[in-house]
Amino acid sequence: MSKIIDGRIIAEQIKAQLKQKAANFEKEKGRKCGLAVILVGNDPSSEIYVLNKIKACEQVGINSFVHTLKSNVSQEEVCILVNTFNNSQDVDGILVQLPLPEHMDQAKILECISPKKDVDGFSPASKHIPCTALACLELIKSTGASLEGAHAVIIGRSHIVGRPVAKLLLDHDCTVTITHSKTRDLATLTRQADILISAVGKKELVTAKMVKRGAIVIDVGITRQRDVVPNRFKIFGDVDFDRVKKVASHITPVPGGVGPVTIAMLLSNVLS
Ligand code: NAD
Repeated sequence: MSKIIDGRIIAEQIKAQLKQKAANFEKEKGRKCGLAVILVGNDPSSEIYVLNKIKACEQVGINSFVHTLKSNVSQEEVCILVNTFNNSQDVDGILVQLPLPEHMDQAKILECISPKKDVDGFSPASKHIPCTALACLELIKSTGASLEGAHAVIIGRSHIVGRPVAKLLLDHDCTVTITHSKTRDLATLTRQADILISAVGKKELVTAKMVKRGAIVIDVGITRQRDVVPNRFKIFGDVDFDRVKKVASHITPVPGGVGPVTIAMLLSNVLS
């Protein structure tokens, strides 16, 4: 039976340290550190994510400036708002909540964010490492396992999770394998993993048979499904948690694993 890695507790510990950093920032600069958040449209999950980020800012002592735009605004209008924040002395980080409406070119909008203020780390020019990749590293480190020489297998090759987490683990001396939707015989590769990270968004993609006994399993994936209660949703990861926890040494739950730590790492990027 594996140890469940409690992302909520780890996030609280990180935020407690950031609180001190935010206080030092305020003392030095004579103003609070600030995060600007742009939300386009009224996607219910995006609204919840933004709310959680604002709450975390309040907890740490970071100002948040939230701008909500209608889903039919033009790409130019979003870029103009981003530019206002690029030039604002009170804003240290800018976040455009994804996904954006279909008529917008996401990459073009992210490119408008000043590289120093792109705290999500989503544009190639950003000076920050994407928060979810940082969160995966924190969760792995919390197990106390040695990273040097460990074989990390990552499922998913996106620019916001799979690739940055691969680079981060490579920089920590892991041997890294990246897999994706075109990978042949995924299970043969995942069974070799000392550290297995799944970032796909497909419920029960990772079964117990795909996991080596004693592996560390980090579940980034999110699948939302309607609950039996009307207007309620349930959230699932990529990993068959109940079965995999019998095989893994450590495992993150969904919810309560990668999500809260990702928010803590976002605030860490804002303050860095
Ligand atoms: P994405 O859609 O950009 O990438 C998904 C990746 O999965 C792709 O590289 C694709 O090749 C791979 N893939 C798809 N089907 C596969 C299969 N059957 N086998 C192997 N690989 C397969 O998504 P993303 O932005 O990288 O996000 C991945 C997941 O992580 C999503 O569910 C997202 O909601 C979640 N996420 C969670 C957090 C968090 O804070 N918890 C943050 C970011 C993303």
